[in-house]
Amino acid sequence: MSLLIKGGSVVDPVAGVVSEKDILVVDGKIAGSGVNLKKSGTRILDAAGKLVTPGLIDMHVHLREPGYEAKETIYTGTRAAARGGFTAVACMPNTRPVADNAAIITSIVNRAAADGVVRVYPVGAITSGSLGMEMAEMGDMKESGAVAFSDDGMPVMNPGLLRRAMQYARMLDTVIVSHCEDKKLADGGFMHEGYVSTILGLKGIPAAAEEVMVARDILLAEETGCRLHIAHVSTAGSVRLLREAKSRGVKVTAEAAPHHFTLTDQSVIGYDTSTKVNPPLRTAEDVAEIRKGLADGTIDVIATDHAPHTAEEKDVEYERAPFGMVGLETAVGLVWTELVASGVLTPVQAITKMTLNPARLLGIPGGTLEEGAVADITIIDPGLAWTVDPSHFASKGRNTPFAGHSLKGRPWMTIVGGRVVMRECSLIPF
Ligand SMILES: [Zn+2]
Repeated sequence: MSLLIKGGSVVDPVAGVVSEKDILVVDGKIAGSGVNLKKSGTRILDAAGKLVTPGLIDMHVHLREPGYEAKETIYTGTRAAARGGFTAVACMPNTRPVADNAAIITSIVNRAAADGVVRVYPVGAITSGSLGMEMAEMGDMKESGAVAFSDDGMPVMNPGLLRRAMQYARMLDTVIVSHCEDKKLADGGFMHEGYVSTILGLKGIPAAAEEVMVARDILLAEETGCRLHIAHVSTAGSVRLLREAKSRGVKVTAEAAPHHFTLTDQSVIGYDTSTKVNPPLRTAEDVAEIRKGLADGTIDVIATDHAPHTAEEKDVEYERAPFGMVGLETAVGLVWTELVASGVLTPVQAITKMTLNPARLLGIPGGTLEEGAVADITIIDPGLAWTVDPSHFASKGRNTPFAGHSLKGRPWMTIVGGRVVMRECSLIPF
């Protein structure tokens, strides 16, 4: 089976350029690229006016399976990914049971092979049950396919234990993904602590709850030589700590989520529970610093922290609602509208943070359209204006604060291993 993608603007994160050329796909691999490529008997795909990029990778997704299938499954979550232009996702281990051993990692890999339409890379837990008491079997999990380790949502509060886990991670040449939140400082808060939380009478989570943990984890990474990745950076102070650490050569990387470079705590006014997320929406100054960090390379990756919940779970008082919002199906629109159209990032920078950087960090294929590479390709229509309508989501989760928002830029086609899985915003049934 072969496919010729003609006339698109090809974004190449490796060379750092955009060029008009055609891409030929044969048997699931990139077979060549160039101007005016021709091949008889090939299906032709007209990509004029569109961006052709390596398949997007979202390294921070909650697929909820096993255990929370009412929120999302590997079946629905990978379809949401395909609709959002992603050809691969890394899924977090806070399932039920927690993905803290090789058998569960293997079962996720197998289920993804059977039910999934995009590639799924499991993240294993750092500690058993993510309880922060004893280290999980990271080596066994890595053998079974875990690409990174994290106690996302349940940060390892014991620094001695995290230090040992980092020493072990370094030996395994894997990366620790850190959800930075000092639970004692967060102290059961519901939103960013500041002027708005005071007005609303909602208990706040101070910026320091994140920043002290970013500082701690950077120091431990520096001491152990472990590769550390800071998840969903939300505060200006975290960006500054990261910038300083990187300038000293600490092996630390970081990601930002679209909601953290787009929204502020002002969105919580009205008590819409879809704005309840952890870490919380912060202030305009934080948003500005995150954008600056994305632009100057302090923040390497854009990841969604896609966190689906049922309507029933979110349809309660703000205090009682679970943290999290869905993100897979709005990410490209938000990146293009908020970052690219406004000149914060060039198209190459944006695509690099959604392809090459997460691929390198996790040690997985992707980020390139070079000859011989696997044909994971995303085609984006950068000029397509659309309105977010959660009722069309492939995800089971409809918990987004962006419902009704007008965006410009949308994934137009998703190709996984040479197979078209999404075309013109619609999933291809098979
Ligand atoms: Zn998290």
